[in-house]
Amino acid sequence: MLKSEFWGDETEAVNLALDWAIAHTVSGSDPKTSFKSSEELKKEVGVSITSDGLGAKEAMRLYSEVLNPATRSADDPMALAFIPGAPTRAAVAFDAVVSAANVHGGMWEMGAGAVFAENQVLGWIKSLLGWTEEAGGTFVSGGTLGNLSALSAAKHTIKEKWRQMGRFQNGRPITGYKLACASTAHSSVRTIATVLDVDIVTIPVDAGGHLTGEMLEKALVENPTIFAVVATSGTTNTGIVDDIDSIVTVAHKYDIWVHIDGAYGGAALAAPSVRHFFKGIEKADSFIVDPHKWLFAPYDCCAVLYRDQKHAIHTFSQHAEYLDAFGNEEVNPSDLAIHLSRRTRGLPLWYSLAIHGTKKYEQAIEKSIENSRKCAEYIRKSSHLELLLDPELSVVVFARKGWTPEQYDEWSNKLAKAGELLCLPSKLNGRTILRLAFINPHTDVDKVIHILETTMK
Ligand SMILES: *Cc1c(COP(=O)(O)O)cnc(C)c1O
Repeated sequence: MLKSEFWGDETEAVNLALDWAIAHTVSGSDPKTSFKSSEELKKEVGVSITSDGLGAKEAMRLYSEVLNPATRSADDPMALAFIPGAPTRAAVAFDAVVSAANVHGGMWEMGAGAVFAENQVLGWIKSLLGWTEEAGGTFVSGGTLGNLSALSAAKHTIKEKWRQMGRFQNGRPITGYKLACASTAHSSVRTIATVLDVDIVTIPVDAGGHLTGEMLEKALVENPTIFAVVATSGTTNTGIVDDIDSIVTVAHKYDIWVHIDGAYGGAALAAPSVRHFFKGIEKADSFIVDPHKWLFAPYDCCAVLYRDQKHAIHTFSQHAEYLDAFGNEEVNPSDLAIHLSRRTRGLPLWYSLAIHGTKKYEQAIEKSIENSRKCAEYIRKSSHLELLLDPELSVVVFARKGWTPEQYDEWSNKLAKAGELLCLPSKLNGRTILRLAFINPHTDVDKVIHILETTMK
């Protein structure tokens, strides 16, 4: 296989790539790596796409010595900025298997066995949601695509439903669909509104940062063309879970769709100590969670699920002469989101979950919640720091009393460059703050506390 008449001998290319992959599967990424400007990279890389090719040695050298070091580690235990990742080594290794198997995961016909395994993972998530047989879903590249798929299904479904109900606006078909969410909703929701050509209605949150049914109802009375509401179960900036129960009750009274964006925090459905925050989720219409965030899978992976998958099938099924020839009874992953050809990207999670079991996953998620509580407790008691919110899941937001934005930047850059801690400034109600997102069970919280104690006083 490695020597072909056409491509020649690829043995060296394959060995160099796999050796690197094996070494990094074992070691994880280097916390000292950091990004560079395209100008800097242009100088170091030069031209890599040439008419005759560089050959394996030079191409791999460029990657391992120049390109990869100019990236930021997302899975180091001390990377606590953005929402980091913390894939198990088993999941990382299995991603190489997914590539090697090269299964077309869009259609059951092509990917049956692989899709079956992905569906068992989705079955676990369904059971955490309290959803039944009618539910279904698939894996897409990320939360942005997951949210887009769910909200596309929402718009299509509600439009049909209102039409059947004979719901009109001033005697004419409804136009000007609107999407409701809190200001704390993820930035992707605004982009999706642009793509779907709908207006956003921003709903104020309560003092604790939650979107509630009460505030939603006010918006619904004022805006009769709202077709869906996005509630976030674990906001990216502060880890707050919206009041799902009251939101679902109000939304369904007005015949609109409830989408739960759990890209980061949805994983905490598996954590008994915080499960109460998700009350009412069994009645929501769609849900996403990113396994590449808090479910210990590598990039890129988002599970999008629908409480009744037929709404998604009605929205996304693609028909073409060459696709319809198969005619089996199974649901195709391509019927459940905006994609056709797809990598079976749910499999790294399947492998790791099958190996370790769901109890281990519960414990890993609880570990980060415990870490965030311990860190918050330290901050609450310290004299130089101010805890800004009680963490609900695993994001801790705090301020250093008296610091200017420049002081935050300087502190943060210094620790990032040294590879000691990745903690970047953010904003809360216009104020510069710091946030720590705990999702890695290997994070040593005492080490984090020690850094806050010794470098911020
Ligand atoms: C990360 C995140 C997203 C976007 O997910 P991607 O995988 O980065 O596209 C959406 N919503 C929330 C709440 C997130 O934390």
